[in-house]
Amino acid sequence: MSRFLSSRFSDLEAYTPGEQFQNMKFVKLNTNESPYPPSPGVLKLLAGGEAEKLNLYPDPEGKFLRDKLAALYGVNPENVILGNGSDELLGFAFLAFGPDGGVLFPDVSYGFYPVYARVFGVDAKAAPLCEDFSIDPADYMNAGRMVVIANPNAPTGLTLSLADIEKIVVSNPDHVVLIDEAYVDFGAESAVALTKKYENLLVVHTYSKARSMAGARLGYAIGSAELIADLNRIRYSFNPYNINRLTLAAGACAIDENDYYRDNCRRVAETREQTKKSLRELGFTVTDSKANFLLAKPPVMDGEAYYLELKRRGVLVRHFSTPRVKDWVRITVGSPEQMETLLRETRDILA
Ligand SMILES: *Cc1c(COP(=O)(O)O)cnc(C)c1O
Repeated sequence: MSRFLSSRFSDLEAYTPGEQFQNMKFVKLNTNESPYPPSPGVLKLLAGGEAEKLNLYPDPEGKFLRDKLAALYGVNPENVILGNGSDELLGFAFLAFGPDGGVLFPDVSYGFYPVYARVFGVDAKAAPLCEDFSIDPADYMNAGRMVVIANPNAPTGLTLSLADIEKIVVSNPDHVVLIDEAYVDFGAESAVALTKKYENLLVVHTYSKARSMAGARLGYAIGSAELIADLNRIRYSFNPYNINRLTLAAGACAIDENDYYRDNCRRVAETREQTKKSLRELGFTVTDSKANFLLAKPPVMDGEAYYLELKRRGVLVRHFSTPRVKDWVRITVGSPEQMETLLRETRDILA
């Protein structure tokens, strides 16, 4: 730390990304990326003409892509904002809607929520998950502050029903309810349609998981035109050209090839169910995840020891030191071959 850093941040605990080794070969099941490449059109586009225009700034409104997303979800373009990853939009939302009343989110959820709260000076309250890691909707009724819930939740993979989400939105008419749907395409119900009915609902999506584009950094949020205008006020005060030209073009192309991604999501969901069954047969406790990862507690050994043993054998999963999940690991659902390797090494470790 230099002596110039503001004292506000001297004890800031930053977000810790999953390990991203650039030179080593791992079976990489630690950061919930897709095992499948971007669709053919996206790959072709990136090899072609758009790169020649990198001397020019991108469209700060990302109009072409927003139009496509609006058509896909049956909303208007003014109901859509693009972010440099959904992380950026989560940050904008905490900054825009959090400071006055504070924010409420589950005690076990996406690790970035408490970091955004801290860095933007938002008072954060955590509602404990139930014993079985499910979310009790009652904990979020009349919250008196902004509410942030990931659905499916991370790293549990458990979902809330649309009816429960609607109850939470209705009971908090004076505060924004943000539903982070990073994993929705792997088996949960989306709340996007409810954004037409409720001005306080904001739904956040990412291209990083279901759309095989974690490296492109692209996310979007859908909500009332007023909420989106608020987020744009922050965005234009921070980084108007937040989405680069190549990513804008790739993002639009991916919408045209939606079927490719839907098939991949179905494949991942199938692999997830098979892997869950195999892990349970080996004595693991595994949550009923509807996401592209499994939260699993190994028999006999603790989560960290299992994570380290796997890593030694070239398989990378995610271990969190958070007290409630420290006995567990989060395993990204990769290709069937990758999961075979995971299971083979796991049998060996347990033997
Ligand atoms: C991966 C993830 C994100 C971030 O996605 P990016 O678009 O890559 O920034 C947001 N929320 C949750 C719950 C996630 O797991």
